[in-house]
Amino acid sequence: MKCHICNRTDADNKSLVGYDGDRYICKVCGHVLISRTAVTILSNKEFGRVERAKLSHIVRNFPHTRELEVAVGSHHLEQVHSHKLPTPVEQLNLLIRLIGDQSSYAGNKLLIQPDVDYARIGAVEAEGIAFVLEEAINQKLIINYLNERDTKTYGYKKEASYSLTFKGWEVYSNSNKGKSSQGYAFMAMKFGVAELDGFYEEVLKPTVQKGGYELRDVRETAKAGLIDVRMLVQIQNSDFVIADLSHQNNGAYWEAGYAHGLGKPVIYICEKSKFDEYQTHFDTNHYYTVIWDAENPNACSDELLAVIQNTMAK
Ligand SMILES: [Zn+2]
Repeated sequence: MKCHICNRTDADNKSLVGYDGDRYICKVCGHVLISRTAVTILSNKEFGRVERAKLSHIVRNFPHTRELEVAVGSHHLEQVHSHKLPTPVEQLNLLIRLIGDQSSYAGNKLLIQPDVDYARIGAVEAEGIAFVLEEAINQKLIINYLNERDTKTYGYKKEASYSLTFKGWEVYSNSNKGKSSQGYAFMAMKFGVAELDGFYEEVLKPTVQKGGYELRDVRETAKAGLIDVRMLVQIQNSDFVIADLSHQNNGAYWEAGYAHGLGKPVIYICEKSKFDEYQTHFDTNHYYTVIWDAENPNACSDELLAVIQNTMAK
């Protein structure tokens, strides 16, 4: 059957009882459980190559064991337009992780099929992952076992085996600990609260930028209610995390805890009235918390900038 997401025609149809949609395994997207509504939207709307690649990447990275919890619903399709594909540098990191995760010993070879595996690293198609493979070879992070003639004819678009070099293993262990600097901070907060969203756009983003970092978030994961692999990768690759505790948001606590576990700096912020109300009964009250005031949101900007500079200077 045809995959509704990537349009590949050799998907393996699986039986499905009591759910209005399709269930199948696609070589590109992996396990897919897709609602009838989502199928209709995908066939009606203008979903271009890039949009489909984003969705394949999202779905491919859903943990398989939670297959039944990670159905592709119409909310994924709404969010896919604003979702960004990983940058080439992030794709390179994902490639190193992909090879490292599946290599049980040094020198172990992993078969990579560009026309299938591109979605794993968030490339748009075979050419995209071929480009990243070539860069990894140039940087001497991986070794390929493709013969010279095939390399000349196909570039890195032909399937071939790869293994990590010692330098590659070093990048792998650092990227797992999340030590390689990407120049951005991850925002852990509750989205969809007007006052907080405004504060995020008008104060937090510009302040973090002044400190020399971009501020990123993953809104769709909170909505889907699952711990998404992309979010884990974003936290792993971030330089530090800012967690807003104003709404006692479970996601924000979890993300901050995960970042602590990786040894990332976490900067806590909390709205003044909420801070007074809860007196931050949390575990976090032995951490420094920047208090911001919804009545005067700009007032905390200097303090926050100073905390970012102090934290990152260490
Ligand atoms: Zn597919």
